[in-house]
Parts: sequence; structure tokens; C-alpha cells
Amino acid sequence: MATQPTSPFPSVDRIVRFEAVARLCESYGRGAVIDAIRAVLDDYRARMSQPEYLSPSDKELSQQIEDRLRARSTPRLRRVFNLTGTVLHTNLGRTQLSSRAIEHAAMAMREACNLEFDLDSGGRGERDSLVEDILIELTGAEAATVVNNNAAAVLLVLATLAQRREVIVSRGELVEIGGAFRIPDVMRSANTRLIEVGTTNRTHAADYQKAIGPKTAALMKVHTSNYKISGFVADVAEPEVARIAHEHQLPFIIDLGAGSLIDLTAYGLPKEPVVRETIASGADVVTFSGDKLLGGPQAGLIVGKKALIDKIKRHPLKRALRVSKPVLAALEGTLLAYRTPDLLVQELPTLRLLTRPVADIEALANRLLPHLAAALGTQWQVTVTPVASQVGSGSLPVEIIPSMALTCRPTSAKVGTALQRLSAALRKLPTPVIGRIADDALVLDLRCLEDEPGFLAQLSQLVTK
Ligand SMILES: *Cc1c(COP(=O)(O)O)cnc(C)c1O
Repeated sequence: MATQPTSPFPSVDRIVRFEAVARLCESYGRGAVIDAIRAVLDDYRARMSQPEYLSPSDKELSQQIEDRLRARSTPRLRRVFNLTGTVLHTNLGRTQLSSRAIEHAAMAMREACNLEFDLDSGGRGERDSLVEDILIELTGAEAATVVNNNAAAVLLVLATLAQRREVIVSRGELVEIGGAFRIPDVMRSANTRLIEVGTTNRTHAADYQKAIGPKTAALMKVHTSNYKISGFVADVAEPEVARIAHEHQLPFIIDLGAGSLIDLTAYGLPKEPVVRETIASGADVVTFSGDKLLGGPQAGLIVGKKALIDKIKRHPLKRALRVSKPVLAALEGTLLAYRTPDLLVQELPTLRLLTRPVADIEALANRLLPHLAAALGTQWQVTVTPVASQVGSGSLPVEIIPSMALTCRPTSAKVGTALQRLSAALRKLPTPVIGRIADDALVLDLRCLEDEPGFLAQLSQLVTK
């Protein structure tokens, strides 16, 4: 009989009784600890044949096991500092919700709630009705419904109102939003035939008129949120398209994209379409996002004429695209802020950050400057510089909002790699810091930095070597 080669490591049974490892069983449970021991031993075995291999001490083994357990119970989704200068950064989660929205969502997740239960009658309720009244109040529409996001809203509206029929859209508005949302593709998915009219730069009322035929289901306008055409241009204003549609008893649909519930120019921001004004201009169905300028959770809002909204609510896709209870609660918590307009900008982080006075951002930059310069050392020159923030998520692509940044320039020659290394080091911090590289510098736009102590506290851990 062949004898088993003796293992160079203590047995799993012995390791689990090491004092440091036994303690881990309390936090992680014995099963996970044993799995971690096996994985760590497998790692060492795999490296045994390498020349630089050293067999581990008991202490090293314990540490490896602990590190592995900790790493595996750390979430992938983490808080970051968004210093990109783009307030609604899609890759960084777009909206930061208000405390009221967060607490309301937490309640809905933690407790039983009247999600689809009518507290007056004791009978079945509609989840959308929780926010329908306030959406009607804020937009002037007759009815409202909510789905997963604005892309879903557009899809559902088209599938309900224009399946196997035609929808007329100006060639100047065949938008691609990114993430594969393209108006012609959405039309195809909804089984709707897109009829393009006009040209890229100019579309006239007569173009819409001429395209209307027996198969026309609707006229549609899409807000060109993420680009602007200038020069020799013409498009047909909403009231005129509405008039043409209604002359032919057709619905007029508008995909507003960001769609604000208030006029942002009142806060010194550039003009973005206001949902109430769009409804007033004669649109029958308007869709917009919950997590763009509205400042709420990811959702797609559909408002408009009651007869059309009722039809949209009854479509089978509506059930597939409906929102979950924490989202609905977060949306209600966000919308309630609009009933106290004087406090709105303070309450909703999106509006608070967009309207933050540049003098405040500059003062913050000056306070942080010596600390960042000290953390970076002599290899870097750090200055306070004026920059331009963006709204993001396709809103107001051309307009920029003056802001202030800490700009880091390497003092040595190898600019490109130095910038990449600094970006990587900032991303490795406990709360990763995300900036942007522009003009041979790393730019940290401070518009969205509200947690100054949190930012400062981790600077000493920055490793730039
Ligand atoms: C952003 C946008 C969409 C997509 O909205 P989501 O909420 O991200 O799904 C659709 N249309 C327009 C015009 C947009 O700006």
C-alpha cells in the first residue's frame, strides 16, 4: 500500500482551532471559515513549486483566512466621491436621493405597507395611485402612471398606442441616448413603424401634414437632450405639432428625457423643458425620467390624457415594467418635496448640487488645497482652478455651470502615466475618488463634494508611489 505523502500544512481541523481562526467562526459561521481555510491552503499548494515559495506561519495562515473572509463579505457596490463635475453621472448612479425619500423607501422595505391596498375601503388598490394625484398636481396632466425607467415608458407608450401602426418623428430628433437606447430601435421593439420626416436640420409643419395617412397612430417629438443643432435650423414647436395631430384625431406623444417639474431658470440654471409647460402646449402623453432633473429614483413617468393613460395602464407590458415598492416610496418621498417649493432646493441633492454657489465651492477648494498638496508631495502641483460642471444624463449638453476644481499636474516629465497612476490611487481609497483627466491634469471638480471631513480623513491613505 502506498503511504499518503504528509501535508506540509496543519490539518483543516487544527487550523479551525487556532485562536484567531476560531474567533472568525463567530462572525462568519464555521462553514464559511472552513471553506476559506481550504481555499487559502489550495493557494499555497499551487505556489509550492515556485522558487520563491516560503511555507506560511500559523499567524500568516490566520491572516490570509481572515483577509479572504473579509474580502468576500465586502459588497461590490460602494460609495464613491463623484468629483467628475457631472452631477447626474449615469455610471455613478445618477441621482442621490433626499433623506425623506431614503427613509420612506426604507420603511417600505422593512415594514408591511399599503402598496396595493386601499385603506378607506379595505379592498385592493393600485400601486400607481400612491403617486398619481401628486403627479397630476405637479404637471397639470389628467392622469399619470409609473414604470421602471423612461426607456420603458417610451416603449410602453408606443406598444400601447401604435403597435403595427406608424408614428411620425422629425429626422432631427432620432436620438441615441447611450446604453443602446435609440429611438428607431425602440420603435422596432414596440412593433411600431417609424416614419421619419423633414431633414436633420430642418423640419416644417407641412412635413408632418404630408406624412399623415390611414396607418398613422401618433405624432411624436423627442427632446434632443444630449446634443444641439445650430445654424440653418427649423423645427416645429409643440403647440403646432399638437394642432396638426388633433386635426387628425391623433395623439401627440413627447419623450421629454430629463423633464423638470420646475423652471430651473428661476435658480440661475439654463432652460430645460418643464413638464407642466409641455402638457400645456398640447401634448397628450409625456414621458420623462425619475432620476434625472426630478431628483428621485430610477423610474419612468408617463403623464397625460386620462383615456390614453388608462389604456397604457391596462397593457400587459405595464405589469412587466412596473416599479418596486422601495422605488415607489422613494418617488413619493421625492415628489412630496415639491409641495414645499421654498425648501425644495435644499432638500433634493440634485437641485442642491446644481445650484451650489461657485463661491462656496471655491472656499471648499481653498480649504482642501493644502491637505491634498501635502498628501501628493512634491511630485505634484495642485491649484484651485475654475472649471465647468455639467448636469449630465443628457441634460443641457451645451450649457455649462461654472464650478471650481483642485487641479493636479505632475511636476515630472512622464505626464500620461503619472495621471493614470494618480487616478488609480484615488480609486483605491476606502471611498474611491473619481475625477477626470483633462489638459494633462487630473481635475477634481468639487461641486458634488459635500462630505468634506470624509474626504480629508482618508487623504493620508493615498499611495501615489
Ligand atoms: C435619458 C433619456 C431617455 C432614457 O431615460 P432612462 O430613464 O434613462 O431610461 C429617453 N429619452 C430621452 C430623450 C432621454 O433624455
